[in-house]
Amino acid sequence: MQQNEDLHLITGTWLPVMEEFYSLQGEGYNTGEAAYFVRLGGCDNGCLWCDAKESWNALAHPLVGVDDVVERATKFRARSVVVTGGEPLLYNLNYLCKKLSEQGFKIYLETSGSEPISGSWDWVCLSPKKEHPPLPPIYHLANELKVVITSPDDLEFAEKNAREVSKNCHLFLQPEWSARDKIIPVIVDFILQNPAWSISLQSHKYIRIP
Ligand code: SF4
Repeated sequence: MQQNEDLHLITGTWLPVMEEFYSLQGEGYNTGEAAYFVRLGGCDNGCLWCDAKESWNALAHPLVGVDDVVERATKFRARSVVVTGGEPLLYNLNYLCKKLSEQGFKIYLETSGSEPISGSWDWVCLSPKKEHPPLPPIYHLANELKVVITSPDDLEFAEKNAREVSKNCHLFLQPEWSARDKIIPVIVDFILQNPAWSISLQSHKYIRIP
């Protein structure tokens, strides 16, 4: 039984899914767009401010057949799927991307970049974490760089990462939700001085959608 599960994970035909839901993208460049969200379980980055801590333990989430996930996504009108986590790149995502592409979906990845890339993506949102910095190959694939800012020190980390991405990559600073009242003025001031950056707000939390 365990052998079968390992094989499914290796081939990417089954994945530990924490939740699936249809909603609007709340953050970053594609804010406001309808999409089907697939949140995979498993992450060992350990961000203190993580708002998806229930995702960390992959074993707490059932292995779900990718064909079934794709089938459920087709029931909704939007033709976009956001694959998020947890850290989705802990898994081989080639099969998931292939099946979604065959159904005509645009496929969006949200990742810290801490694991090797797999899958073929229409949009990569790289959200680097200090504790587990991205592996270098992901930088040139990133369409957007979204750095969560909890304190002024994080701006230096954001600039360091911005030096690694391509010149077409969109740059976002996102206030960490619990620190937002203190940190938003710092971010606004920084962007006024560094207009290559934009602010990303977790709009789904303001309008209370998933
Ligand atoms: Fe949470 Fe994402 Fe950090 Fe993992 S990388 S601990 S899921 S915020």
